[in-house]
Amino acid sequence: MCYAIPGRVKSVNKKTVVVDYFGEEKRAINDFYDIQIGDYICAQGGYVIRKVPSREAEEILSAWKELFFELQEIDLRLSRVSLDNNNIDRKLSHILDKALENLPLKKEELLYLFSLEKEESCDLLFKTANFLRQKYHQNSCCVHGIVEISNYCKQKCLYCGISLHNRNLQRYRMKPEEIVDTCVEAVERYGFQALVLQSGEDPYYTVEMLAEVIKEVKKKIPVLICISFGEIGLPGLEELYKAGARGILMRFETSNPELYHTLHPGLKLETRIAHIKRAYELGYLIMTGALVGLPGQRDEDIINDVYLAKKLCAEMFSFGPFIPHPDTPLGREKMPSTEKVLKVLSLARFIGKENAKILVTTAFETMDKEARRKGLLAGANSVMLNVTPLKYRKHYAIYPEKAYSKEAVESQIDEAISLLKSLGRAPTDLGIGYQG
Ligand code: SAM
Repeated sequence: MCYAIPGRVKSVNKKTVVVDYFGEEKRAINDFYDIQIGDYICAQGGYVIRKVPSREAEEILSAWKELFFELQEIDLRLSRVSLDNNNIDRKLSHILDKALENLPLKKEELLYLFSLEKEESCDLLFKTANFLRQKYHQNSCCVHGIVEISNYCKQKCLYCGISLHNRNLQRYRMKPEEIVDTCVEAVERYGFQALVLQSGEDPYYTVEMLAEVIKEVKKKIPVLICISFGEIGLPGLEELYKAGARGILMRFETSNPELYHTLHPGLKLETRIAHIKRAYELGYLIMTGALVGLPGQRDEDIINDVYLAKKLCAEMFSFGPFIPHPDTPLGREKMPSTEKVLKVLSLARFIGKENAKILVTTAFETMDKEARRKGLLAGANSVMLNVTPLKYRKHYAIYPEKAYSKEAVESQIDEAISLLKSLGRAPTDLGIGYQG
């Protein structure tokens, strides 16, 4: 995990550099730069994304120093947990004790946690996950930006508002230059250091076009580019990696093959998983996960989903609620409760590797106005802000009333930063605007 602020390189071993952030050491891979001990760099998702001139770095660090330790103090205070409460049932405290000691939990134990109903018990589960989040990640929190480049999609996923089912949707597609300009603005004006480019499965963009866009962005600005274009084919993944993409956001949606087949006519779970596996082999950072609360989904499926995300080497777990869209075949179904989603985030914290990031999704933020705060206090340490140009944003309606469809990027940043500050968290990938 890397902070948005520059770090000082302490050692260099081939492509691996060890970076110091006010006494905390992190590793990063250097693919692109000539780096010596003593240089300052910014890293994202474990990759060096830019060398920072010493003077600039020292100025940023001196402005940050005090705030950095103040935030850590707040976070530490908010992430305390105690299992010494006589009212807690013994089974629960035994399982949470195991989680705190980083011992593997059995499936039946996870199912037990997932079945908790009493508010007090759920609170303890969330607090335990938050404690582990703090232990493994200190107060760092990812703040990626997402650019939704097109809402055309050739697929017929039964739940998705931009699928072919939705005939009422006004479709849009950003031109390559527009995508590049949006990324440049997100980095230069707003300070993002990691961006996800997402679209429906839109055959208009060939792999070559997408590769050109990525190369152009990488030429103009230092940024970690993550792709999220669905099943572009295994050779396509390689092309986009060569072009400079280093992350992929691709959920497998559900680990249950029959349910997957029912929800995605004509598609196979194994093809989607083959994409994620190939992306990992190529060196992409994997962001994956599933929908929570799909019609026909059992609790056991959800636990399997979290296991599968881990098996696929998820760097970031992306689990969010299914929200019914009226213009899809599942439009009359129900969405899950806030507690159910929070439980999944907490279980992901227990099951995932220590370095796993856990995202509070926009779908969750759409469902519950307090989701971001609640999620960050239940094991999550990552949020995504929407930097799609406003004229398009409302049309990327994968579900109705999508959160942040109307808010300018500045106000999303202000809101996110003030929440993070109140929780004592430091953004890892939002470089400017955070010193005030
Ligand atoms: N085409 C790309 C893909 O296949 O991964 C990315 C676009 S797709 C619309 C992004 C994600 O939206 C999907 O992985 C899915 O989980 C989520 N999604 C679609 N419809 C949804 C709904 N009704 N509620 C919540 N999430 C939804």
